[in-house]
Amino acid sequence: MNRSGQTAPLDGDRQGKHGTNEDDSQPYRADGGTALQDSYDVIVGGSGMSASTTATILGNHGLDVAMIEAGSHPRFAIGEAMLPQSSMWMWIVGQYHGIPEIQYLSDANAIVDNITSSCGIKHSIGFAYHEPGQPVSADRSHQLIPPNLPFYSESHLLRADVDHYLVETAQKYGVDYVDETAITDVDIGDNEVTVTTDRGEIDAAFYVDGTGGNSVLADQMGYREDAPELETNSRAVFTHVEGLAPFDEVIAADARPGQSNRLHDGTLHHVFDGGWMWIIPFDNFERSAATKASVGLMLDRDKHPVDDSISPAEEARRIIAEFPDIERHLATAEPVKPWTRTGRIQRSASQSAGHRHYLTNSTYGFVDPLYAIGLVNTFESVFVSTNLLLEAFEDGDFSADRFAPIDDLHHQQLIDNDRLISNAYKSMGEFRLWNAWTQMWLGGVLFHDLYIQRHCFNYLESGETAEFDSLLDETSPGADAPFAAEKADIHQTMADALDDYEVGEATAAEAAELMLAEMKGADWLPKHVYDWGNEGARHVDFANPQLVGKLIEWGKTESPDHIREDLFDFTVPEMA
Ligand SMILES: Cc1cc2nc3c(=O)[nH]c(=O)nc-3n(C[C@H](O)[C@H](O)[C@H](O)COP(=O)(O)OP(=O)(O)OC[C@H]3O[C@@H](n4cnc5c(N)ncnc54)[C@H](O)[C@@H]3O)c2cc1C
Repeated sequence: MNRSGQTAPLDGDRQGKHGTNEDDSQPYRADGGTALQDSYDVIVGGSGMSASTTATILGNHGLDVAMIEAGSHPRFAIGEAMLPQSSMWMWIVGQYHGIPEIQYLSDANAIVDNITSSCGIKHSIGFAYHEPGQPVSADRSHQLIPPNLPFYSESHLLRADVDHYLVETAQKYGVDYVDETAITDVDIGDNEVTVTTDRGEIDAAFYVDGTGGNSVLADQMGYREDAPELETNSRAVFTHVEGLAPFDEVIAADARPGQSNRLHDGTLHHVFDGGWMWIIPFDNFERSAATKASVGLMLDRDKHPVDDSISPAEEARRIIAEFPDIERHLATAEPVKPWTRTGRIQRSASQSAGHRHYLTNSTYGFVDPLYAIGLVNTFESVFVSTNLLLEAFEDGDFSADRFAPIDDLHHQQLIDNDRLISNAYKSMGEFRLWNAWTQMWLGGVLFHDLYIQRHCFNYLESGETAEFDSLLDETSPGADAPFAAEKADIHQTMADALDDYEVGEATAAEAAELMLAEMKGADWLPKHVYDWGNEGARHVDFANPQLVGKLIEWGKTESPDHIREDLFDFTVPEMA
């Protein structure tokens, strides 16, 4: 069913029931303000990206929505690096529901024009592999550059500004917002939901829980799992810094991976045995006024158990000091907030939805920020969940089985991410294994990008938002893609090889050979575009139109029948 908001123009001129943000929609604060009503159609808990975009969509469709936040904006939040897919999803959700303010996030220029000048750009994904005491080398680094499509681009989002803007957007679309108000109890009744805060009780027909890992509802319903049954077992140590030098300027010119762009112009990952570090500059876009960067270590808890006798800053300093080029990279960087150290970062729940309620995807569970899948999953989930909820309101039926697809989606996202990321950690101990797994990740993500792009191209051609509706029918968007079965098979074979390596039944060389051979033998991976399975293939630049042309020509003429018929069946728009 098409729930798209074709009626709302994409002109950024929306007037919600409270008018624009400049006049009468100020947040409700402890010292007074607009009181909430006694009852709503929907109460949304939290005001991160998932909560505020959900509230905005529901408000845009005429529902009476309250959003309740324990803290206040602007506030520090993590989750800053985008991918082509997160950008595309922001574009799709904005287009589908006629909400330009969500779509702005999918374009670096639109962010500066409409939201903030504090965000960076992501022209590439870089991985630099490090060994203790050794400098990096070009043959141990990867650079992957996504295509330049004029309708979206990837950014580094300064979440303090972006999240604040999205809360103001929700208000503009008629959502009643209160901050500094903690949800303390949620009672899911047969005919209504009662949400208790530290400032009183409110009723609603439905509750959407976007409060994250400390969700009161997940605890009350017995959904939260104390020890997530996920293979990934990692923790984080992170901060924001000023004065970070571009990595490209601190390493030897011959250590760069055959680059088209500076590694500083994208998200850079420093990878080592048992962990990795994200480097997300906000100052790397010519229109950005920012001077900060986000940096953070993700550590395998078995290989890097926490030592509580040292501070998070000291722990970060010691790990960084093991790798001379990471140390050189961060030599001039000064933290602008204290380093934060987490415990195990994985969380999961036994259930994500039921009668009159659902949890947003990151309230349900989370694996690890490697590969920046968090916001992809958040927007996939917002797209699917809000459609189901709008249909439920249309039918006046909030029974549990209507929301079962949300359960399936969130569960699928969690196990897919765990498979991808736990195997990445297993491969980090040996560069040959890491190289093979990275090539496999690239194959999967490139084809998944194409699958979502195909829907966008079809939409651009027909102008019908119904082009996106089939994405609502899959367990998770892409689960029914024509390459999904082959991709799952290769993943499994490569994961088995890593397991054999871990238990000593294969050497790193044997496991790597097997993994590379799997990719060489896969006829859905076009080797003349990127030489999957060749150890030397570590740089690919899809911003080069000739390379994109080769890929499309192969897809439309020589690719396996099911790939040609079900993936490359789009008309290439003029702009691409
Ligand atoms: C270390 C780390 C790095 C990450 N990096 C990336 C990345 O680079 N790219 C990417 O795509 N994703 C990344 N992610 C994932 C990304 O952060 C999440 O997908 C995203 O932030 C989820 O947003 P959210 O709105 O669901 O939750 P949140 O942003 O966590 O919002 C939850 C809100 O609920 C409020 N709240 C909590 N309890 C209550 C209560 N009782 N009552 C009322 N309000 C309450 C909180 O104050 C908060 O504002 C990362 C995650 C982590 C942990």
